[in-house]
Amino acid sequence: MLVFSVESSCDETSVCIMNKEGKIFSHIIFSQEIHKKYGGVVPELASRAHLEILQDITKRALKESGLNLKDIDLFAATCGPGLIGGLLVGSTFTKSLSIGMQKPFIPINHLEAHILSPFYNNEITFPHLCLLITGGHTQIYILNDLDNIKLLGETIDDAVGEAFDKVAKILGLSYPGGLEIEKKAVEGDEKFFKLPEPLAKKGNLNFSFSGLKTSINLISKKHEINDKFIKNISASFQKCISNILVSKLEMAIKNFNNKVSSISVVGGVANNKYLKKSFENLGKKNKINILYPTNYMMSDNAAMIAWATIIKYSKLNNINFKTNPRWQLDETKNF
Ligand code: ZN
Repeated sequence: MLVFSVESSCDETSVCIMNKEGKIFSHIIFSQEIHKKYGGVVPELASRAHLEILQDITKRALKESGLNLKDIDLFAATCGPGLIGGLLVGSTFTKSLSIGMQKPFIPINHLEAHILSPFYNNEITFPHLCLLITGGHTQIYILNDLDNIKLLGETIDDAVGEAFDKVAKILGLSYPGGLEIEKKAVEGDEKFFKLPEPLAKKGNLNFSFSGLKTSINLISKKHEINDKFIKNISASFQKCISNILVSKLEMAIKNFNNKVSSISVVGGVANNKYLKKSFENLGKKNKINILYPTNYMMSDNAAMIAWATIIKYSKLNNINFKTNPRWQLDETKNF
């Protein structure tokens, strides 16, 4: 069985061809550069860029794999959550292929694909905790099984990745901001600025990051923004983010009476080396394995869409789908 999948929910256009055993025949990720000069993703430009590139990378993927469209058994695409323009381009394109080839079309939830991605390269036992940290989401889930995934808490304002980007913008660093802040922070003093940790000590598993951004904005107005300042504030900010995430994970571990044997950290922000180190320390302290998806499944990609199709939806055939920019996991069964 071969799956052809498309991811287009934000600013990555990606296609993948994978078989039932998870073997990848081709995987192409095209990162749209156009948003750099605007300091963030412009939805209208993202949809146009998806439309321009999708056919080309599909042809390339087929050529690379030596396969034909008629060899594909299932067509899958991200149908939410995400930017509606991108979702419509990717899902309509893929649905058209499925109609043309008279094969099933499978709508995939982008968050579920992120959550299932570490199952590709790890042996995971349940119950399992998952921290999802991306540019659009910050959420903690408990997985009791592959189809029993419950949201425990999420951000009430900005996502972690969004906070990184906004702080980078305040400091005059380029977009995407995560990598820039990580680089500057290496040489900074993380104790230099005492930043607020909103909701960190609250008794629930929700997050809040917008106050942190405001606080950095105020501090920046009182200081000369030179290299030393940028390094120290980046390090202090990263430390603060790490404190918040780790304290919530510890709370989640305690909530399940230490029955959880592993935690996976998924999404693009999980690439941050400093945060990874904090998660490793948390793992050691609590005797819990910290797991990650394989490198090419960290940021947005079509391989995780194909993988989610294989493990979750291979029995579903539903051509009457809706794209949903706010598709939540508990709505999955509505399809
Ligand atoms: Zn994502």
